[in-house]
Amino acid sequence: MKLNLSHSKLIEVIGGSSNQDSSQIVDVIYYDTRLINTSRNGVFFALSDRRNGHDFVETAYDKGIRTFVVSEAVQLPSDAIVITVENTLRALQQVAKYHRNQFSYPVLAITGSLGKTTIKEWLYFLLSEEFNIVRSPKSYNSQIGVAISLLEMTDEHDFAIIEVDISHPNEMEFIEDMVSPALGIYTGVGHYYADNFESQKMHAAEHLKLFKYTNITFTLTEHKSALRRNKINAELIDVNEWNAVDFTQLSYANNRIIAMHVAAFLGVQKEELKKKADQLPVLSNRMEVFEGQDNNLIINDSYNIDIDALEQALSYQFSSDERKDKIVVLDLSYVDENRRKAILEVVNSYQPTQLFIIEDNSIPKELLKVKDASILFKGSYRSNLKETVQLFKNRKHETWVEFDLKSIEHNVSTLQKKLPENTKTLVMVKASSYGTGDMNIPHFLQQLGIDYLGVAYTDEGTTLRENGIKLPILIMNTEMDAFEDVIRFNLEPSLFSIRQLEAFCKRLSEDNITDYPIHITVETGMNRLGFYPEDLQELIEKLKQSPEVKVKSVYSHLADADNTDPGYTLQQIERFKAMKNEFEQGLNDDSILFHILNSEGTSKFGNIAAFDMVRLGIGVFGYTSTSEDDGLLPSIQWKTTISQIKSLNAGETVGYGRTFKAEKAMEIATLRIGYADGFRRSLSNGVGAVFINGVSCPVVGNVCMDMTMVDVSNTNCQAGDEVEIIGENITIKTFSKRLNTIPYEVMTSINKRVARVYLK
Ligand SMILES: *Cc1c(COP(=O)(O)O)cnc(C)c1O
Repeated sequence: MKLNLSHSKLIEVIGGSSNQDSSQIVDVIYYDTRLINTSRNGVFFALSDRRNGHDFVETAYDKGIRTFVVSEAVQLPSDAIVITVENTLRALQQVAKYHRNQFSYPVLAITGSLGKTTIKEWLYFLLSEEFNIVRSPKSYNSQIGVAISLLEMTDEHDFAIIEVDISHPNEMEFIEDMVSPALGIYTGVGHYYADNFESQKMHAAEHLKLFKYTNITFTLTEHKSALRRNKINAELIDVNEWNAVDFTQLSYANNRIIAMHVAAFLGVQKEELKKKADQLPVLSNRMEVFEGQDNNLIINDSYNIDIDALEQALSYQFSSDERKDKIVVLDLSYVDENRRKAILEVVNSYQPTQLFIIEDNSIPKELLKVKDASILFKGSYRSNLKETVQLFKNRKHETWVEFDLKSIEHNVSTLQKKLPENTKTLVMVKASSYGTGDMNIPHFLQQLGIDYLGVAYTDEGTTLRENGIKLPILIMNTEMDAFEDVIRFNLEPSLFSIRQLEAFCKRLSEDNITDYPIHITVETGMNRLGFYPEDLQELIEKLKQSPEVKVKSVYSHLADADNTDPGYTLQQIERFKAMKNEFEQGLNDDSILFHILNSEGTSKFGNIAAFDMVRLGIGVFGYTSTSEDDGLLPSIQWKTTISQIKSLNAGETVGYGRTFKAEKAMEIATLRIGYADGFRRSLSNGVGAVFINGVSCPVVGNVCMDMTMVDVSNTNCQAGDEVEIIGENITIKTFSKRLNTIPYEVMTSINKRVARVYLK
């Protein structure tokens, strides 16, 4: 980009007001601070795309930018030139329009739902000898993208190809004004129309506004009526005329024909076109292609799920790789019905060998068995697919934990079977669902139809809300200064003191909120949090006078449920019953839910003390003291890989402090796991062991931060082999015992850097 705009011209073009005059010349526009290159005279436009650009002005300043275009008040040092406009996007488009009008060479614009980038790139290829072409980078076709594309025009070019997309009514007007194309290509909207349009016709009409003033707009005969309806001057392309002999993929062939037809129109000889048709470049915009596990070729395009890019990725997959099996993995987690249909239509037209659809961030187990295939991964940037792809890439290079969602589902329903019908289920997802990761398990539980989720602290609840959890969320330990977030994110606090109740009511009354759902924690013997029996009368009186809140539930927590002697638990249950009576008589509200059982409690006392709800935790993962008897299934496997094998001579030592000395010649393997991953240092020197190819291999020497050495003298193995840390041979209970702890602590101590994989 080389704009050469004076400060005053810039202000004139965008119609803003500036805090000071300047003689600066602006050469380049930035809207993303990551792209700032300080050697150039840049202006930073604070756009609001996915994030509010005004939050980044300071970063831009620190990177050397001194001119800013903003629409909100910003705090910047006094040498910053701040130009204020009403709408920064419109301002950017004004600059683009002004810049584009400096050039008289033709602009060819491409719009429609499909094929834009493909056609643009192919036209570029076909025309590159006739013209010096400027074109949209990548798939820059949004309101911002089109402006940025136009700003790339210079007087060294003599032809521009710009792609345009829209997703809302009335969006095209500004874009048309900015682009003013002389020529157009319309690719159609397919059966899919964006959600913001009432009909396919209206979606098409919005696209076609781009061509109101073009001399000629090219399109396939099938779109004839749409162009007529919208009074666009069209040149129809007849697919049959172009004897597209061996193009098996229809839409792929259509794109090729459109590109060839337009190139012919622009003067490329047919002979020349025929030659070039076989050399059209394989397009792999954002795609990353690499050799994966099990001789699979991985095509990773997990950054967006727009249909155009999907088509490109498919045409790449189906045209460029010799592997016969073509597997497509789609993550449709955040995709609505309409779009889903359109996506599946496109994918099915290519007839992949196998299609996997992921909707809950889990990986189908079948997919892990795929060998010798090309696998295309396609999902939006919001989905978890990126991490899944890493698994296919790096299984040989990593440490990871696998969570088996089928087992989790089984465990939930097995525990529920111990309860009277109509008992509700709350699942505790505190501490990132017991260390399993922030969002996957909560989403999975929401899909399973669990009634409630519970967390320890407010910020855990806000994370759930921000990531699409709609279930009611109980907060166990509500901090006084978090009431604001509690209310904003519709979270339900547990209250355990009068002071806290009063403070919360006061906060609610400031906003005139009534009947806000709360939970009451009562003390029956854990001696952690809660109201004591002797506090109840005062509490009940207070609650009666507090229209701000509505008690959703009253609960207590068991201290000794895993003890084979049920004495203490039964005592707690009796105390709870007595307190329940007081609430029932005092508040006279039969909608209040009472609950005391955790996983252990559910397993042992589900038939006698479920009350209205239970709160499950560890049992969901299959690790209660009686999990085997109850038929719960373990759901976690922790694995790593061997990075190197070494042969030691007698007398040599291993690792820091030389705490292990080989007594005879032996083989050791270095593993990609250390105490920073949660494989604690106390497992050093034989306390811990791992399983490799069916053989137990004890730890030798001290566990390091990122690596551990084990004795592999008794097993055949090589670098890259998989190593079981926790799994079929070493259960989480065994592993916990070696560390003198419990599965809860092991689960929550697996470091965040360890990849999490969810299998189904
Ligand atoms: C963590 C927790 C649970 C779940 O306990 P598990 O032993 O994992 O079943 C239930 N209730 C409360 C209050 C908790 O803190």
